[in-house]
Amino acid sequence: MSLLAIEDLAVTFPVEDGPDVPAVDGVDLQVETGEIHGLVGESGSGKSVTARSIMRLLDGAEVSADRFDYRGEDLYAKSEAEMRRIRGDDIAMVFQDALSALNPVMTVGEQIAEVVRHHGDVDESAGLLSELRRKYVTGTSKSAPSWRRAVDLLETVGIADPEDVATSYPHQLSGGQRQRVMIASALGGDPSLIVADEPTTALDVTVEAGILDELQCLCDEFDVAILLITHDLGVVAETCDRVTVMYSGSVMERGTTDGLFENPAHPYTKGLLRSIPEGAPSEDGQLATIPGSAPEPTERPAGCPFRDRCPAAFDACSDPLPEHVVDGGEGHVARCHLYTEGDDLGEVTWETDA
Ligand code: SF4
Ligand code: MG
Repeated sequence: MSLLAIEDLAVTFPVEDGPDVPAVDGVDLQVETGEIHGLVGESGSGKSVTARSIMRLLDGAEVSADRFDYRGEDLYAKSEAEMRRIRGDDIAMVFQDALSALNPVMTVGEQIAEVVRHHGDVDESAGLLSELRRKYVTGTSKSAPSWRRAVDLLETVGIADPEDVATSYPHQLSGGQRQRVMIASALGGDPSLIVADEPTTALDVTVEAGILDELQCLCDEFDVAILLITHDLGVVAETCDRVTVMYSGSVMERGTTDGLFENPAHPYTKGLLRSIPEGAPSEDGQLATIPGSAPEPTERPAGCPFRDRCPAAFDACSDPLPEHVVDGGEGHVARCHLYTEGDDLGEVTWETDA
């Protein structure tokens, strides 16, 4: 059983004076226990909307799916109270912008300790006196189990001086330290899944590499799965076990990272990969440029949304996207009319950029 199994997800944002905006349509996504799964695409591809649908944090949107199971249970059948527990206890989120996600007037140790008390398994007698002390005197006592756990977690995520950092406020820390604090805080509730939306995008390349290494260690150590949302295929190559490629609200291709990088099947994936030598991270952290731009959600062509940019497009591409297993299996699926079941991977020739 997959940890997270989503089938045929559609998310639409109703608009009062215009056509509704179909943000994602027909998205399948499976995340297995303990894996790092990359969800990759350009901005506007629907990857962040897909991520937020897992937290049920899409106010005002219409969400439908054939299946939306977490540990085999329908997340969308849960009450809001159950969801509040699940967010933090079971599924935690790490955002790109730690500075706005963290509380500016609380030390980071206090913030992590709070997550530990609310969502973790630390047993701390929450008597009236310690509650009052927390609120009005000096914050969590430095000997409280939740504080010790916060310091441990800071050390776990690679903070060199965890005692000092725990007593710091977010603005006193570097961008890289804050991102590590966010990850420590996510771990505070012992989640099974961390949804990380572009967690390293704002950081420089060396700091990013250190944090990505840390994420890989955490997966092994805590058996936590990470859904890593990124626009950078270099990050995927370095970090992920499996990958799902999205374009214009739909999944284009998915498979193991090795399978997809060695034998990309979909013309869109091939276009993204062609400027990344041997799966190395792209220098500027950006995706390769594919001529043209993605269609507006309200103006997608029928059939394959990549049709207007695809060098291999032909008549059948206006038919609904198929779902073809390619490259001998291992869950490698390409949604493209170039293939029929079991076909070889074919050639797509890209014109060199002018
Ligand atoms: Fe190109 Fe057609 Fe495949 Fe879409 S379905 S990627 S337009 S060949
Ligand atoms: Mg985004």
